[in-house]
Amino acid sequence: MDPQLVENARRTLETEQARIRLELSEEVEHPRVAHGAQTAAATEVSESQRGQQLREREALHLGLIESALKRIEAGKFGLCRTCGQPIAPERLEALPWAQDCVSCHSTKRR
Ligand SMILES: [Zn+2]
Repeated sequence: MDPQLVENARRTLETEQARIRLELSEEVEHPRVAHGAQTAAATEVSESQRGQQLREREALHLGLIESALKRIEAGKFGLCRTCGQPIAPERLEALPWAQDCVSCHSTKRR
């Protein structure tokens, strides 16, 4: 594994990690819908649901980022979780949190 690629990936991952953590903590401190607002308009409700889905997705993404950072520390970054083969550098550059190589990823999708 190219150390430069790992270093770039680590930087991307850490930036993303910080951004998501901030986003998630802001959501907790400033909920979009007031508590007990029973008369909330339908748009506000769906706004809140969207916010919830977004937070769930972000939390999931954060999990992937953190496990990628752990793999970097363990020196196992860039290996496919499924087949153990190295993941293509172009894929890691685009998605440093990828856990599977392209072929395993597309197999699972089918
Ligand atoms: Zn694979």
